[in-house]
This record gives sequence, C-alpha cells and structure tokens, in this order.
Amino acid sequence: MSSLLERYGETAGPDAVEQLRQLAAPLRGCRIVHVNSTRTGGGVAEILNQLVPLLAELGLTVEWHVIEGTPAFFSCTKKFHNCLQGGGEPPTPHELHEYERVNGENAERMREVLREADLVVIHDPQPAPLLHFTPDRKGRWIWRCHIDASRPVRPVWHYLRRFLRDYDASIFSLADFARALPHPQYLIAPAIDPFSPKNCDLSDEFIANVLSDFGLDPERPLLLQVSRFDRFKDPVGVIQAYRMVKPFFPRSQLVLAGGSADDDPEGAAVLAEVRAAAESEKGSVQILELPPDAHRIINALQRAARIVIQKSTKEGFGLTVAEALWKGKPVIGGNTGGIRLQVVNYHTGFLVNTPEGAAMRLRYLLQNPDVMARMGEEGRRHVRENFLLSRLAREHLTLMNFLLHRDAERIDMTQWTS
Ligand code: UDP
Repeated sequence: MSSLLERYGETAGPDAVEQLRQLAAPLRGCRIVHVNSTRTGGGVAEILNQLVPLLAELGLTVEWHVIEGTPAFFSCTKKFHNCLQGGGEPPTPHELHEYERVNGENAERMREVLREADLVVIHDPQPAPLLHFTPDRKGRWIWRCHIDASRPVRPVWHYLRRFLRDYDASIFSLADFARALPHPQYLIAPAIDPFSPKNCDLSDEFIANVLSDFGLDPERPLLLQVSRFDRFKDPVGVIQAYRMVKPFFPRSQLVLAGGSADDDPEGAAVLAEVRAAAESEKGSVQILELPPDAHRIINALQRAARIVIQKSTKEGFGLTVAEALWKGKPVIGGNTGGIRLQVVNYHTGFLVNTPEGAAMRLRYLLQNPDVMARMGEEGRRHVRENFLLSRLAREHLTLMNFLLHRDAERIDMTQWTS
C-alpha cells in the first residue's frame, strides 16, 4: 500500500506534500506529545488517529497519550463539557477534587514524557491541569479546545481558567469560540482524512451488504444521523422531524447510528430516551449501536444515505458533517458552531433551528433530487478545499514552528531542506 504522503500527493498535488515536508523539517528531533482522554469514540480520537501517523511519516517524533480516569472523574469532565457548551449542572466539590487528583496521578505516571517533551498539545478540559502538575516542564504547551466554549456557565469557566492561563497558546476551531486567555490564540478548523476507513471509497457490494445486515431496504430513501448519544446532538429532535416527514414520504427510513465514547458517561441515559422516542416508529426508524471501530460501516451508511442530518444544538465542529459532504451528501445541520462553517446554507445543505425546520428541508430535498445532487457536488468541493487533513497538518506544523522557534529572528525553511 502506498504511504499516506504518496496518497496525499495524488489528491492534494505534489506541491502540497512538498510544503508539508518543508514545514516538518525544522521540527525533526523535537519531541511532540498529544494528550487526550479517549483513544476511541468522538471527534478528537478520530483526528488524532489520522494526524499522528501523518506527522510521524513526515519524520517527526510524535506520541499520543491518553489519561486514565475514574467514573467520578469522567462524570466531572462530562459536566464541564455540558457547562462549557452553556448548559447543565456544575460538578460537585467531590467531583472537582477527583478531577484534580486524577490529573495529578496522570502527571506522575507521564512525568518523564511531560517534563521532557518540546511541545505538548493538551486536548479539551479533561487533561488541562497536567500543566499545573508539571512545574518542571521544559517545552511549550498548547491547549486545544474542540468544543463550543463561547457561552460557558461562568463559575465553571473561571474554575478551569486557572488551569489554562499558563499555557503558551490555545487553539480553537472558530473565532466565535475563542475566550479571553492571557496567551496567543489560534484558529484551526478540524479536518477529515479522505483515505481513512471512515472516508475511503467502498464497493457497491460492501454497501449493499451493510444495508442488508441491518435489515435496511436499499430501495427506500435513507435519512441518517451519525452521532454519539448526547443531548447536544439532539437525536430526539431528529425523530420528531422524521415524524413530520413520514406522512409525505412513507417509504423513507431513518437511521440513528451511534456508539459511546470511553469518556462520555451519559450515553446510556440518552440512548434510552432515543429508544423510547423511536418506539412508535418501528419499521421506519432504526437505532444502531455500533462499536467504536465500525468505521467502514459508518462510511457505508453515509454513502447509502440520501440526506445526512446533524441536528446538533451545540457543536464544536461536527466531523460527521465533513464526512457526509465528502461523500456527496447534502447535510441538514443545526445552525450552530462548526456546522455553520460546513453547511453553507442553500449550497451544501440547510441550516435549521428546530425539528419543524429540519422536517421542511427534508421534504424539500426529497422532492428535489436534482438539488440534492447539486448540493452534494458543492459539499464535496467545499470539503476538498477546506477540511482535509493535509490542511490541518499544514496549520499544525506552522504553529509548532512558530512556537518552537519564536525566539529566532526568522525561520529559514531552506536551511533544513537543502
Ligand atoms: N463516530 C463513530 N461512531 C459512532 C459515532 C460517531 O465512529 O458511533 C465518529 C463520527 O463518524 C465522527 C466522530 O466519531 O468521525 C464524531 O465527531 P464529531 O466531531 O461529529 O462529534 P463529537 O463526538 O466529537 O462531539
């Protein structure tokens, strides 16, 4: 099989690959460490699974570490997640104590790595206090926020801010999400890997087999939402929208495909709510609980779908949107966060605010296959130009060069490549 870089050369062109090599050259020999809270499930793990091997292939020394937590720790960090996105109850004092204790323990376990690394990228709030517990660090530290923290529950933000202010930089996905922090902030939108099992081309036979395995009729229009079972993804709202579409398109079928992430303890409760909501739609609505490595199955479902829905009420970015657009599907997306970057209203899909709005757009698209096809084409082009991994790698490399060589008067790229 050809290398990742060779394959990138085929889609992005040799110049883009050469540019990545040039940006990587000054970073050779540096130790770069990424830390997050789960290896599977959710967008962060998805990105690191693609980005880390690509940077390694560029000759960088990159490590990916995952913190270990307890149920009280993950309950606390899920509450942070909810509160940063504007809702939900704050963690209890016991949970906050556990949050700090677990981070202290992880810092001890990863002591040598965290102390010696030249660059540490900490993803989201879960491992944020690692910096505080590494006073003898020698590298630069970046906090990478993947969530929409634009309107957080204030006391929770103030608590977390104490652990964030000493970072050297932070990265947000959108300008709207950036928060007042006493260090430079950078905007880098996430991206998908077009060659990963989640996004690579699949044979018609494989797609047909997946549909048949789940008892889905290939002749019936398939509407799909792929998401962890999380209230911010509004799976119940999707079912409500579908109920308004079904009388007009009785042969349509809805699939809600999702799994759980190791760091998301609320999934089971939300799944139960979704099952209850779907109860009256047996035969037309399927809830698929998939294992975290079901990438090709999700890929096949996205390819089989007529329309993909991502009706989130809050969304950091929504990789599922880019995945669907890449497969030429129009997306009906919640009018929020990173979905707005990807769903260009009337071009790559529709932005909606309510189940009624989603239902109206679903009906319109089902009635107008030519519009679906045009939007699908625009969507794929939009992702090719903006949301592929080669762009993400380029921006990461540029930022790393800046942070690691910022005391130099200039960074002469030719010095390393000649
Ligand atoms: N995903 C998956 N299995 C699931 C649900 C989601 O593999 O059961 C993937 C999905 O295809 C996407 C990522 O997990 O690549 C979710 O990222 P997104 O940014 O959409 O949402 P997050 O879960 O990070 O909030």
